[in-house]
Amino acid sequence: MIAWKSSPLPVLPGTSPDVALYDTALHRTVPVRPGGEASLYVCGITPYDATHMGHASTYVAFDLLNRQWRDSGNSVRYVQNVTDVDDPLLERATARGLDWRALAQEQTQLFRDDMEALNVLAPDHYIGAVESIEWIVPVVEDLLRRGLAYRVPAAGSEPAGDVYFSVDAASRLDPEDPDAWRLGSVSGLTADQMLPLFAERGGDPLRPGKRNALDPLLWRVERPGEPFWDGASLGSGRPGWHIECSVIAQRFLPAPFTVQAGGSDLVFPHHEMSAGHAYACTGTPLARHYAHAGMVGLDGAKMSKSLGNLVLVSSLRTSGTDPAAIRAVLLSHHYRTDWFWTGEQLTAAEQRLSRWRCALPLTGYAQAEEMLAGVRAALARDLDAPAALAAVDAWAASALETPAEDRSDDAAVLAGSAVDSLLGIRL
Ligand code: ZN
Repeated sequence: MIAWKSSPLPVLPGTSPDVALYDTALHRTVPVRPGGEASLYVCGITPYDATHMGHASTYVAFDLLNRQWRDSGNSVRYVQNVTDVDDPLLERATARGLDWRALAQEQTQLFRDDMEALNVLAPDHYIGAVESIEWIVPVVEDLLRRGLAYRVPAAGSEPAGDVYFSVDAASRLDPEDPDAWRLGSVSGLTADQMLPLFAERGGDPLRPGKRNALDPLLWRVERPGEPFWDGASLGSGRPGWHIECSVIAQRFLPAPFTVQAGGSDLVFPHHEMSAGHAYACTGTPLARHYAHAGMVGLDGAKMSKSLGNLVLVSSLRTSGTDPAAIRAVLLSHHYRTDWFWTGEQLTAAEQRLSRWRCALPLTGYAQAEEMLAGVRAALARDLDAPAALAAVDAWAASALETPAEDRSDDAAVLAGSAVDSLLGIRL
């Protein structure tokens, strides 16, 4: 499907150093060396509700990585999916009395508009679950043939034939390979820690007939009243969520690609299982590094649909909020921290942008160069956006004191380009 429009990136003199990034699977910050071609997969939305601040925070976080990579001389291949058929989408469509396709289209468009307003660089490939089904079917058939997946018999109201991934069979694939996937490779969790998360995040540990309670669904056979597609030997049905991302990433990115990213609620089971599927398919790890963004709450509570306390990007835009100020709030928190959105932070961000905009025409060239170096250094340290904002604040304070003879248009262009290119904020 089509993505959204990216604004052109201003060209800056010099380059950033290579980024060091906290790798969830390795539990430490490591140098990431893409070698000229970086590749990124950020898991996309399930389009049943508008983009809230938690989503926005994740996509802006990894937008920084995309910008940092480009500034350090790499080309970037970026892929994102849209889970445009899944249980929550179908449930929400039924509740609202809408066709699920119409709801998905409406919410995907709202997401595109939000991303464009927040100046997030668009992915090169924006792929829907529905359009990936024809690629997923042969992969699931292959896993079945090789004994890495199995069919579950009928039980209660569940029909026979759903296909599950065997985490135990996949974990035993190649005991000699140090890069082999084993259950826990990505999340570092024990089975006891995994079980409650699996149940909470869309898994079905109690489904009768599964070999391991943690085995995830690969193919759900047709049910009355649910959409379905031709599954060849699998029978008609629809794919599970983890295999969707795994197959899309393998199709459009090198193996392994540089960074798999998403919110921290995707570490397990989603990224664990997507990596397991890919290794089971090809014997190659899915990604070299795994990076995760923290969760965003509101006024001291977890932001969730059930509590009805979502802060929506689109609502703020409609009420006239400058999207750059929203972005500045998001950047004022390190991407890995969990934090709470408050109205005061938005006011502070608006004041900050206003100071920066006042300083822009007053800056000298040396000050702009110093700020550029400071922002680059901060981002190279695990995308430390708060430190990058502090570097811009320091520049703005000194620019306001610049003697008139030191000011120049070139300096203003350099400062504006640095903030635009690296932080995605246009002054
Ligand atoms: Zn995903």
